[in-house]
Formats: sequence, C-alpha cells, structure tokens
Amino acid sequence: MLVRDISEMKSIVKDLKRKGKTIGFVPTMGYLHEGHVSLIRSSRKDNDITVVSIFVNPLQFGENEDLDRYPRDLKRDQGICEKEGVDYLFYPSYKDMYPEGFSTYVTVEGITDKLCGAFRPGHFRGVTTVVMKLFNIVKPDRAYFGLKDYQQFKVIQKMVRDLNMDVQVIGCPIVREKDGLAMSSRNKYLSDKEREAAVNISRSLFEAKRLFESGVTDAERLKERIIEIIMSSPEVREIQYVELVDPENLESKEKAEKGDIIAIAVFIGNTRLIDNIQL
Ligand code: AMP
Repeated sequence: MLVRDISEMKSIVKDLKRKGKTIGFVPTMGYLHEGHVSLIRSSRKDNDITVVSIFVNPLQFGENEDLDRYPRDLKRDQGICEKEGVDYLFYPSYKDMYPEGFSTYVTVEGITDKLCGAFRPGHFRGVTTVVMKLFNIVKPDRAYFGLKDYQQFKVIQKMVRDLNMDVQVIGCPIVREKDGLAMSSRNKYLSDKEREAAVNISRSLFEAKRLFESGVTDAERLKERIIEIIMSSPEVREIQYVELVDPENLESKEKAEKGDIIAIAVFIGNTRLIDNIQL
C-alpha cells in the first residue's frame, strides 16, 4: 500500500503497535534493485510488517552532486515492492518532510569526518537527520541498511546508540552483479565503456583481499595494487580515496588485520561509485 502522507503513516504505525506487530523498516532513495530487495527480504523474515520508504533526500546531496538527475521510477518500484510482499511503501513529499522554517539537524561527530564525509561536507548530517525523522514516523523495531554504504551503516548505528533509540540497526551484505560490481541505482549513469571500467573497482578489492590472505598486511602495498587495477582504464577520472580502516571507528591503518575494511570512492566519468570489502 502506497502512503504519501506523514500523518497517515503515523496513524497506521500507531494501529500496528496497538496490535503488537513488529515493524521492519528499509529506508531507500528508490530506483530499487536486488540490493534493496535483499534488505526487504531480511526485514520480511524478521518482522510482522515491512515498511519501505522512498525519499530522495535533498539534504544529503552537495551543491554540485546528482540530486536533479538521480533516477526515479515510482511505478517500477511499486511493482517490486508488491512482488516482494512489502506492506507499506512510504513516499513522502519534500514539502512535508522539510516544511518552510525547518531548522533542526542531527549531527554525529568524529566518524563522519572520514572517508566519504571528508569529501561530501554535510552529507552525513543530511542522512542522520532524515533517518531520525523517518524513524520517528515509522517507529521500527528493526531497520535494515546495506554494508555497501559501510560508513553510513556505522554512522546510523552510532546515532542510535548515542541517543538511546529503540531500534535495532541491522547491516546486510553487499549484493553484486554477476561480474562483481556492487549494485547501485547510480550504475544506470554508466555508458557501456564506463560499465566495463567499473568492474575493476570490485576486482581490485577482491585482489587486495587475496593479497592479504596470502600474507600482505602493508596498507601501502594493498592500496598500490588497488590503484593500479582501477587506473588501468582510461574511463576512470579519479580515485577519490582508497583507505584501509578499522571497522568500528573508521580510523586509517598502516597494517591490515582480519576484519578491517578497505573502502573506495571512484569517479568513472561523472559518476561517483563507492565499494568496500571486509578482510
Ligand atoms: P539507496 O537507495 O542507495 O540510498 O540505498 C538504500 C539502502 O540500500 C541503503 O541501506 C544501502 O546501503 C542499501 N544498498 C544499496 N545498494 C546495495 C547493495 N548493492 N547491496 C546491499 N545493500 C545495498
């Protein structure tokens, strides 16, 4: 069922709570793919009711980013949600989410300065603010986030812990195309040539993990190999960052240990793609 109105969503949730139903929540920006579907399936497994939201949140886009061209297709997304047995598709308007005079924000400090946060000022403030709002509307027992956006997952987890919120934040594995490319709504932007180049992102991460498993722990050596693989294609405009980080605080490390994360952001043409792997 499609719900556009915030107050209608709240009254549905109130009714569900009264009936003792558990609510699983999957926040998205739409243009759904198998990655989103895997979160929906986890939620359906763990909860009585599953709510998916679609909201392209302007607050988390920078001035020169892709807010205006972000892919949108509500009809298609509705079809996927119906097929997957989603109970409510929450689709609020910009005007209702950010009415005139809106001026309250949620900021998680520290881990938002690193990785993507260093290159997208204000991005995580936009994410935490909208997720807090959505949580207050949907009041989920569990919320599902993809580990593809690893930093986002850790930031939300920290917000929930720091602010004593009653929601369990669950991280779900990265879903990839057959050739390894992490699924993303933004993959739609890629030309055929760029799509070919994009596969080197995941390939380089798998190779780094293989090197680590064969005994290489030096971050510089791992990063060099990753850069070499990704830059082998002329479609790649820039590697924004490649970092070996601690999985909890996201601090950069010089020596790799099991469980560490290697995270990457790459511009292929004008398209910014991110990916990561856990060692
Ligand atoms: P988005 O619509 O891109 O904002 O993503 C909504 C949710 O889906 C976020 O929690 C993402 O981390 C998750 N997600 C996106 N792509 C993938 C993927 N390839 N595998 C798993 N989760 C994903």
